[in-house]
This record gives sequence, structure tokens and C-alpha cells, in this order.
Amino acid sequence: MKLVYTHDNITVVHSAKNILALNNIAAFVKGEHVAPMSARHGIENTYIELWINHDEDYEKASTIIENQLLNPELKESWVCTEWKEENDGSFEVCWKCQTEVVVGDQQKLSQSI
Ligand SMILES: [Zn+2]
Repeated sequence: MKLVYTHDNITVVHSAKNILALNNIAAFVKGEHVAPMSARHGIENTYIELWINHDEDYEKASTIIENQLLNPELKESWVCTEWKEENDGSFEVCWKCQTEVVVGDQQKLSQSI
């Protein structure tokens, strides 16, 4: 087992896990039960960890995460109109209230995929 990625937003970690799953890489999330689900901005010292089951997947996994999740050109964050929550560019709905991304942002989003 190997730690491949950490983030303080559980939704980001889960989308990383989903991306790996699509590439047939087995991974699991650690620390999600420790993080308060209602964590506010400013309390960001709880990190959720994404681990891969097989060490030999490590290079492939980190490349995939780098390309699909961490590339700054591919993800522009957007702000939810309901709650003014900032969302990661890889999300199509708000992590907090599930409001869908507004049209202008959606174009950005589809360009990035
Ligand atoms: Zn929202």
C-alpha cells in the first residue's frame, strides 16, 4: 500500500479515487471519518489520504492524478451561486449543496475535459 494523494476536501479525494478506479487502479480513502463534514474554511488542517492497494500502481496512479486533477490549466475553480462556496474545477455540482455549475463555468469545464 502506498499513499498517493492527500487533500483536505473529501470530495476531491473521492474524485481522485474514482479516476483511479476508471483506470483499474484499486485505491482506498483514509481519514475521512476523522474530518468534520461541516468543516468551515479556515479549519484546513485535516487531510484526507488516498492510498493505492498495490505499490506497483504508484507511478501510473500519480501520473493520472497529476494529469487529471492537479494540472492547474485544467481546473479553474468556480463559486456556487447558492452558498458562495468555492468549488474545484473538476466538480460539476457544488460539493456543499449540489447546485449545478452555472452555464459560463460549464463551458470552461467542458473545454477542460
Ligand atoms: Zn453550493
